Amino acid sequence: MECNAGAIWDEQYLAYDFGDHPLNPVRLDLTVRMSRELGVLERLAITPPVAADESQLLTIHTADYIAAVRRASVDQTYEGFGLGTTDDPVFAGMYDAAALVAGGSVAAALRMWNGEVEHGVNIAGGLHHAMRDHASGFCIFNDAVLAIRALLDAGAAKVAYVDIDVHHGDGVQAAFYDDPRVMTISLHQDPRTLFPGTGMPTEIGAGDATGTSINVALPPGTDDAGWLRAFHAVVPGAVRAFAPDVLVSQCGCDTHHEDPLANLELTIDGQRAAIAAMHQLAHDVCGGKWVAFGGGGYGLIRCVPRTWTHLLAEASGLEIASDTPVPEAWTTYLRGRGVKSELPSRMGEGPLREVIPWAPGGEGWLDGAIGATRRAVFPLLGLDPDDPRD
Ligand SMILES: [Zn+2]
Ligand SMILES: [Zn+2]
Repeated sequence: MECNAGAIWDEQYLAYDFGDHPLNPVRLDLTVRMSRELGVLERLAITPPVAADESQLLTIHTADYIAAVRRASVDQTYEGFGLGTTDDPVFAGMYDAAALVAGGSVAAALRMWNGEVEHGVNIAGGLHHAMRDHASGFCIFNDAVLAIRALLDAGAAKVAYVDIDVHHGDGVQAAFYDDPRVMTISLHQDPRTLFPGTGMPTEIGAGDATGTSINVALPPGTDDAGWLRAFHAVVPGAVRAFAPDVLVSQCGCDTHHEDPLANLELTIDGQRAAIAAMHQLAHDVCGGKWVAFGGGGYGLIRCVPRTWTHLLAEASGLEIASDTPVPEAWTTYLRGRGVKSELPSRMGEGPLREVIPWAPGGEGWLDGAIGATRRAVFPLLGLDPDDPRD
């Protein structure tokens, strides 16, 4: 499949830098370098982001919080509104850096919606924990919420948001919890074992949006086969039933088995399969209207660059085989910067293990979790939680 995809990119994104912190922007730089070496970048229409202005940010954040981020940006001793914490330390230029990411996600969405490209990607985006009135979980402004709002304002009647980050997409869920125009689906490590502590299957939305918040709480240790079983048991059925105009994906790759912050066990190949499944779903259900963002991912060298290179390639319709060598120039660049640790030699870790489809009556934590999600929301969507074809 050849797809006309666009990506939003500018080196100014690297200014979103908390310093000595797990979220290091080097991961974006290394992704772009790898993509360039593999000929992926030249397949994409690249445009730079334009920072979201205050009037845009006011549609999703409180005026007090926006003012606090401005002050923190100037006065690095600032505390309050979740700022100045271990997770969200303040840094000079924080306001501009966060506004640029937010504007980039809006641009990815609107270029797609306006028909300039079929798919829009912003690997710097996906900062899904930011809340209306405070910073949270490395996230200052919620670019995903802003992009979905922009799509609704531009005329999209319904938007489905699928979040495959290892952490619950809590900020996006909260923003649209009672909005029937937006379905949020998050697959994540069980929140009883991981930040942010929300995202249980019982969180299903409110009012006339009941049934449009969907959460799959996966056991620690879930691998490719288990994760993909859960995805296919919940996501395609729910999205088809909702019939959105657009699919928005948050492609956090902190589900990787080497990720230092969480405990799922996916490989690069499992993550690529998840991204490919969302791409296919957008063609099947939304006429190809697909927007994809980055998100979490703290395997800065061995995970993020490969997975998001696959994301950029996938959006352009290119499948990079798992056994493709990692470009020599990329490895040489890292060695030149003094990196001594073991570098990946192939673009994947494949082959992918066979995925056994979900069936009712399965025992154990994983099948129990899948069943709980299906029972919580499928009846509200006109689907049968016990019919594996739904
Ligand atoms: Zn496509
Ligand atoms: Zn995460």
